[in-house]
Amino acid sequence: MNYGGRPRRTELKHCRICGMDSGVRKVTVKVPEKFYVVCEVCGYKTRPHTTQSGATREWNNERGESQRD
Ligand SMILES: [Zn+2]
Repeated sequence: MNYGGRPRRTELKHCRICGMDSGVRKVTVKVPEKFYVVCEVCGYKTRPHTTQSGATREWNNERGESQRD
């Protein structure tokens, strides 16, 4: 697929909480950097991950590997 010059990435699914297509990839400013995905509508966010793909996987995984904090 061609997204008109945007870098090719795994697409974020809709938010599992509010159902909006509102997930945004973020990275912490602190080091070591942690990647997460946050919903701009309801504020839901994944746990911090060491890789962006890890955060994306958690966001896209409806059930999550583990829901425990
Ligand atoms: Zn949401």
